[in-house]
Amino acid sequence: MKFEQYNISPLIKQSLEELGFKKPTDIQFKAIPSILKGDDVLGIAQTGTGKTAAFAIPILHLLMRRSHHNLRRQVKCLVMLPTRELAIQIAQVFKDIGKHTELTILGLVGGVDQAPQIKKLDKGVDILIATPGRMFDLVSQGHIDLSRVDILVLDEADQMLDLGFIKDIRDVMKHLPARHQTLFFSATIDEKIKDLAYSIVHNPIRIQISPKDPVSKNVTHSVAHIAMDDKRFFLERLIKEFPNQKILVFVRTKVRAERVFAAMQRVGIDTLTMHGDKDQSDRLKVMNEFKTGKVQVLIATDVSARGIDIQGVDYVVNYDLPDIPENYVHRIGRTGRGVNKGRAVSFCCPEELPILEAIQSYIGKPISVMTIEKTDYVETITFTEDTPNDNWQLLLDEAEKEDATRKKKKKK
Ligand code: AMP
Repeated sequence: MKFEQYNISPLIKQSLEELGFKKPTDIQFKAIPSILKGDDVLGIAQTGTGKTAAFAIPILHLLMRRSHHNLRRQVKCLVMLPTRELAIQIAQVFKDIGKHTELTILGLVGGVDQAPQIKKLDKGVDILIATPGRMFDLVSQGHIDLSRVDILVLDEADQMLDLGFIKDIRDVMKHLPARHQTLFFSATIDEKIKDLAYSIVHNPIRIQISPKDPVSKNVTHSVAHIAMDDKRFFLERLIKEFPNQKILVFVRTKVRAERVFAAMQRVGIDTLTMHGDKDQSDRLKVMNEFKTGKVQVLIATDVSARGIDIQGVDYVVNYDLPDIPENYVHRIGRTGRGVNKGRAVSFCCPEELPILEAIQSYIGKPISVMTIEKTDYVETITFTEDTPNDNWQLLLDEAEKEDATRKKKKKK
């Protein structure tokens, strides 16, 4: 079934056509009719599945119909998200799909001046897409009235819990009218999420996308066994082998992000970093430079990158394996989005083997191994443009030792 055949406003169909969305993705096909009917939805789907449009399309349609004159420009839909990047990104999807409608959409995040936000709120907003902190500030200052909200969306709920937003979620319910539609989305589901979900949704339609294989079919992923100290040489090689590709590199900590950044700089590779220490304007700048392709490599930590929709990431590199197995799915879900194909590789050192095992058991199958011939391995670490270092010295020492034992054996 194509979007053309859907019973939704022609103004929405027009923007879908402009965005190149012809057919619904799996989650859109399953969620849109239920949301249009007014049902609560519990959706288990990772990003990259088209989850955002799955709720944005029907919400925009419903609100166009409900925008009676006296309700115009009052917050009728609230979308809550755990991070600023996500809120900005989801607001953009609503704006793109709602472009030809008269609905006003506002992405509301902290870390930026609140005066312009207040100005927009005072003029009136139909759909508010927000992170909890700034939203509650402005609710308490009287700039946001949530008493007319009839659709609440909680997106990336598992991450909301991880980041400690449980109280905010409960608090927001106190501001909403008793009767409203709730759409609850999470990439993963465990007992904690289930408890939360079932305490706020009512008789929901449950939609689960590819529960057995959480990795998108569009992503080819593999693991390469590489010693910790050699990872940077392999990253250097990979980036140089794919000069025109957008590469997203995941590391475990912000310190490591900066180290990898410095290592790449030493070999003449321009990269960007994204982690918790960056302020909002830095983050926007980084996102923009990566999105526009000004810089092709972004080094990021999990929290900073979760859920971000960066168009056209060709390659995801797990420079460090993620401590939490499900983050593997989130990370490699940054590529192969929508209908595109993507590739991912994980650099696994011997110390990380237990994590690799945990990831494989989480995704329910082994990850194919990218075999690196010994000569290839040595070539990669010797042909670096990095200045010789301890590692190089170690290798030389090892080669010398081998040589010496070989000579000794010959003498005998
Ligand atoms: P999401 O899971 O919402 O982050 O969406 C992932 C990507 O899929 C985004 O880049 C969307 O633009 C794209 N997308 C969503 N729905 C469709 C569709 N029906 N056809 C093609 N691309 C889509």
